[in-house]
Amino acid sequence: MIAILAVLIQLGCQAKESSSALNNGALGDTNKVKSMSYQVQKTEEEWKNALGDEAFRVLRLKGTERPFTSEYETLWEAGTYVCKGCGQELFSSETKFDAGCGWPSFYKGIDSSRIKEIPDLSHGMNRVEVVCSACGGHLGHVFTDGYGQPTGLRYCINGVSLGFKKKP
Ligand SMILES: [Zn+2]
Repeated sequence: MIAILAVLIQLGCQAKESSSALNNGALGDTNKVKSMSYQVQKTEEEWKNALGDEAFRVLRLKGTERPFTSEYETLWEAGTYVCKGCGQELFSSETKFDAGCGWPSFYKGIDSSRIKEIPDLSHGMNRVEVVCSACGGHLGHVFTDGYGQPTGLRYCINGVSLGFKKKP
């Protein structure tokens, strides 16, 4: 059982890396955020201008940032992490932990209604994507590998999808 768990944890990390490699290449329409009925609506051009290239690629085209590149991965100050797309408060620094995966990780969100979970079968993997409930921006994935305690959940989030509000 322990061996299986270890393999699963490994897969979680590797999955992100291989998906990063794939997403750096050609992007099909299937990778784009489905507009649906999100509260915050912008045209593709508006998103691009507001976010810049890298955040646009991750948030709106469901890309993955390279591991260990986000300043937030090693940030341990008290504060609140917000969606870079719309400013909605998503994660508290109190639930952030070091998963060693190379991406900012949290064991729960501030409020489950602010994070929408979507089954993601892309790249031959069975994962659960997490997006901002207000703008639909791609944040990352949530894994149930037991790494994040006490919930057992690991929200593996692209730092470029986030902003940080330091606790005053
Ligand atoms: Zn948002």
